[in-house]
Amino acid sequence: SVPEIGSPARTKAILSRYHLVAKKSLGQNFLSDLNILRNIVAAGDVTDHDDVIEIGPGIGALTEQIAKQARKVVAFEIDENLLPVLDETLMDYDNVKIINQDILKANLPEVIKDEFEPGHPVKLVANLPYYITTPILMGVLQSGVDFASIVVMMQSEVADRLVATPGQKAYGSLSVVMQYRANVAVAFEVPRTAFIPQPNVDSAIVRLTPRDPLPIKPYEDQALFKFVKGCFAHRRKTLWNNLQGIFGKQPEVRERIESVLKEVGISQQLRPERLTLINFIELTNAFHNEGL
Ligand code: SAM
Repeated sequence: SVPEIGSPARTKAILSRYHLVAKKSLGQNFLSDLNILRNIVAAGDVTDHDDVIEIGPGIGALTEQIAKQARKVVAFEIDENLLPVLDETLMDYDNVKIINQDILKANLPEVIKDEFEPGHPVKLVANLPYYITTPILMGVLQSGVDFASIVVMMQSEVADRLVATPGQKAYGSLSVVMQYRANVAVAFEVPRTAFIPQPNVDSAIVRLTPRDPLPIKPYEDQALFKFVKGCFAHRRKTLWNNLQGIFGKQPEVRERIESVLKEVGISQQLRPERLTLINFIELTNAFHNEGL
């Protein structure tokens, strides 16, 4: 019988049969290691009770491994040249549906309503196109879909930023915003040698699950995100400096900034990278209440 899609021999055969040249502009690096592909699906705990959304099926290597475990897979692929390829490689799986659409333009709640039956957990498993990792994750987390788990491969360096904690070098606005939205953990690392063609970065599998309830909420999500971005605008400067960048330097404004910091109990001299998610939420609300 034919080897599975993600074996190096089969991947090479498919690429050559269809004269496919991986498009760098679309982040096309095909994962070609069956153990890793299976471990990605295992990290999502995918069972035959689950419906799965995939982003960027490529030639179908990960899709095949998901299809073997899941009830149904719906995969979004932007590159129409891959449609005939996927038609053939996934021919034996009647639980796969490919949608030829840019994931950033997809209406996920609607697709889920149309393609899946209610009552089944919906999970997301993907080897992401790296050039749009952040917009994809933000879009997915803001889509209103209640994903039971999200397991995604991305560049190691971005994974480090997602899981970084206060005081670490990689800690920044992306860490805070993602950790506000979800529990985030690195499942395992993937070397560049597992891909055809090889990218020039190493990768990591990140697992996002529904976030533990927070003791406080920001008055508005977007206000929190904007505030966090503003605080990290100049990482090497103090919080005090960054806050003046956000709200202004006028003596009257400075006085109000000072009184908010006092009220929340945070030192002016801290660097933004020392603040926790809870600190950021408290400050967002306190500045809002102060009318700043
Ligand atoms: N899943 C395959 C694998 O693991 O070998 C391919 C992963 S490859 C890193 C990323 C895939 O995402 C490519 O197939 C690419 O064409 C697709 N892609 C890129 N931008 C996209 C977008 N905006 N919407 C949907 N798919 C996209």
